Amino acid sequence: MSINQQSYAYGASKSSIREIAAYGAARKAEIGASNVYDFSLGNPSVPAPNAVRESIERSLDLPPVALHGYTPANGLPIARQAVADSLNRRFGSSYGADDLYLTCGAAASISIALNAVCREGEEVIVIAPFFPEYRVFIENAGAICVEVLADATTFQIDVDAVAAAITDRTAAVMIDSPNNPVGSVYARENLEQLAQAMAERSEALGRSIYLISDEPYREIAYGVDVPWVPGLYARTIVCYSYSKSLSLPGERIGWVLVPNTNPEHDQLVPAIAGAGRKMGFVCAPALFQRVLVDCVDEPTNIEAYARNRKALTEGLRKIGYEFIEPQGAFYLWMRALEPDANAFFERAKSYELLPVPSDSFGCTGWVRVGYCVSYETIVDSMPAWQALWDSYQA
Ligand code: PLP
Repeated sequence: MSINQQSYAYGASKSSIREIAAYGAARKAEIGASNVYDFSLGNPSVPAPNAVRESIERSLDLPPVALHGYTPANGLPIARQAVADSLNRRFGSSYGADDLYLTCGAAASISIALNAVCREGEEVIVIAPFFPEYRVFIENAGAICVEVLADATTFQIDVDAVAAAITDRTAAVMIDSPNNPVGSVYARENLEQLAQAMAERSEALGRSIYLISDEPYREIAYGVDVPWVPGLYARTIVCYSYSKSLSLPGERIGWVLVPNTNPEHDQLVPAIAGAGRKMGFVCAPALFQRVLVDCVDEPTNIEAYARNRKALTEGLRKIGYEFIEPQGAFYLWMRALEPDANAFFERAKSYELLPVPSDSFGCTGWVRVGYCVSYETIVDSMPAWQALWDSYQA
């Protein structure tokens, strides 16, 4: 047997988030769903807006050949134009349909962006803690994942550490704000400092360093500014998806944007198309491309997440837990009550609490509590969080 060992290793090793979720599902079947507090997955708990359903129903009246046929590899022009127009309204830009490539969600967007810019053996810097799939996507692009820890107190980007990690092999820096797993939003000043440091290092090294901004949580922010990154750093590529903003993770729809302000736009656009072609990431789901035409400006319903966030932060604060105040996404980053987050998780599990240990995200001593769950789960879990806390006070 001669198979690709890298692919085998990715398939054979399990994602710890999915393992915890599978344990949660089995445990619910055993002791009843309301007795297990599963905070592991980032699956939106808010339904997709009605406008999505209405749009699908309208599309169903199209002739089947048109409805189900191939679209252009980069997506229907009207869908790409709708996205460009929406971005232009929001950010005062002048993007066109051809600056966008529609994808099967952010996972594909990131893989395409990385494959477009990385050459074999180059490095991509990620800010730890980070979404664990980044490593897989980076290695698939033939590059090396270089982890740089976020600031230990604020979990904003440690710009000096990023600057120090940039070498003559750095192809890109990847950021994700609002952040999974921390729930932080990078402040404008922090991003401006990053942009300046990257520009200085690029100049000193005489090479282009791209900023890949992964933004599936852009719309889920609690009253804080989420800066538009291409306005701060010219060599930015934006990766987006509607998995979280329109609660459509199973439908696989998103995009990559090469802003027309990127000085290498004219080389990057074909490189993005070529990366999509290489990986077979062409013709994103046609029905959902049409949904974008109708729903691109549909507001994200963040009320339920905001309510959950309030109940969770108030409840945990009252007990005494330490956490990073969540500013966006639907995750809370909480300090484990012992240095070993895996041991803390095991103890939490015995109280039927299922957060995700921080080791999965590239740092130690914390857990991620995903609050894209029902409000009742948050409220009902509080006695268990209290009992877990008490168990450490003896
Ligand atoms: N990037 C981040 C930070 C995520 O949290 C996720 C999914 O949870 C993705 C990318 C992948 O999103 P998609 O479902 O659009 O592929």
